[in-house]
Amino acid sequence: MTVPSGGDDDFPKDPPGEKSASPDLVRVTARACPICGHPVEARYRPFCSKRCADIDLGRWVLGTYRIETNEAPDPDEM
Ligand SMILES: [Zn+2]
Repeated sequence: MTVPSGGDDDFPKDPPGEKSASPDLVRVTARACPICGHPVEARYRPFCSKRCADIDLGRWVLGTYRIETNEAPDPDEM
């Protein structure tokens, strides 16, 4: 993933007045929610909504839980 220097991508630049979404034309440059593919909302980046953020978080938590730490206290240590 290449990140261009410059921090002015807080929100997708959409020209006002032009709201004709063509199903054939898929914007590859536009960021899409990794969960559902909807346009990313700046407030819930990198997701489109809190729901998707929760879904991703849930996956993370589940994955984390799978890693069990068998850290038993050392009886030898004193
Ligand atoms: Zn989403």
